[in-house]
Amino acid sequence: MKVNELLLALEAKHPGEQEYLQAVKEVLTTIEDVYNQHPEFEKNKILERLVEPDRIFTFRVTWVDDRGNIQVNIGYRVQFNNAIGPYKGGIRFHSSLNISTVKFLGFEQTFKNALTTLPMGGGKGGSDFSPRGKSSGEIMRFCQAFMLELWRNIGPDTDVPAGDLGVGAREIGYLYGMYKKLARKNTGTFTGKGLEYGGSLVRPEATGFGALYFVVEMLNTKGIDIKGKTVAISGFGNVAWGAALKASQLGAKVVTISGPDGYIYDPDGISGEKVDYMLELRSSGLDIVEPYIEQYPNSVFHRGKKPWGEKVDIALPCAIQNELNKDDAEQLIANGVLCVAEVSNMGCTTEATDLFIEHNIFYGPGKAVNAGGVATSGLEMSQNAMHIQWTAEEVDQRLQSIMKNIHDQCVKYGKTENGYINYAKGANIAGFMKVARAMIAQGVI
Ligand code: GLU
Repeated sequence: MKVNELLLALEAKHPGEQEYLQAVKEVLTTIEDVYNQHPEFEKNKILERLVEPDRIFTFRVTWVDDRGNIQVNIGYRVQFNNAIGPYKGGIRFHSSLNISTVKFLGFEQTFKNALTTLPMGGGKGGSDFSPRGKSSGEIMRFCQAFMLELWRNIGPDTDVPAGDLGVGAREIGYLYGMYKKLARKNTGTFTGKGLEYGGSLVRPEATGFGALYFVVEMLNTKGIDIKGKTVAISGFGNVAWGAALKASQLGAKVVTISGPDGYIYDPDGISGEKVDYMLELRSSGLDIVEPYIEQYPNSVFHRGKKPWGEKVDIALPCAIQNELNKDDAEQLIANGVLCVAEVSNMGCTTEATDLFIEHNIFYGPGKAVNAGGVATSGLEMSQNAMHIQWTAEEVDQRLQSIMKNIHDQCVKYGKTENGYINYAKGANIAGFMKVARAMIAQGVI
């Protein structure tokens, strides 16, 4: 198989779907050698099948805002691949969401979920609805209208959505509530639920916690301690919060968070009550971080800027895809960064990723680093199926061992001759092998 030919064909078939084509290219170029060593992959047209989603639902979502005006949004659910388990993946509410983004996310999710060791296929969904500045009533009505259309296509053994950007505990509550009303079943078809109705302990923290467990594993390969290391975090939502919490608990010093308005530099470190304050900032619904400086006057607000110009040991993009570009990467490298781990999905552009790998810097791709979130969703599904609830310690223990396992898989497939671990390559090959073998075993379907 010539990966280039397949990519050209895909570009012609899906013109302008930039994020999707970028995600596919990143995977295909890293697995090409392994693919060509296994003639059964080519014979079964695994790549041609894997790059196209099983199906896509696109639907109109009509709802009424607080002023009585009718609003129209688009809803999506991409059921990408269910070779190893029911479709599983989040729902994103963001004004920029389009079919290219949902397809890229669903594609990534397929590999990520395979890495978790749990039986989950890949899916993703969302809407171009922006929660920014919306009242709780508007959010609820939108969620209900969204679910009115989607509920027929999901279920505990079919497709299990969860949160993502713009979809947190409140939105999951509204979505799941409407699902239950329509389906008349209390099946747990959603993860990230509240603790009172089937949610799992540690799920809110899981993406950030898992990412830090992964970073610790990376640093361990060179005997480096995370204690005392400085950390730049972007974003200030659920994922950034979990990462800041665990990083500070582990003794690292988090010096930045960011929002669409700019970034905060806090020389004293963001820990303790400052991490709690991130939740308050988020719940204002304004989507800005500037108020942080009023609360903590020792900090500085840099309007319209990203935090990657700061000199730090560890950079953790926790906001959105392609938020760290080539210039940012050059700046981080010039400032002696040790480790860059994507907590957001595809947080770095391809050029930035290539630069980190070229400079032998620890670089962890999103599908490995942030897999703790969906892995803990998988643990929530298990608890729901058994009608029990594990303790926080039990869940955290499982999360830690899953992250260690993902790290081991990356090392197995990503270690290069000079000892450098190419985590992007390792994660892609490990995820691909599992899905490809499952697809072959199940015939041409
Ligand atoms: N949206 C998260 C992700 O990108 C979590 C998905 C889930 O828990 O299903 O993996």
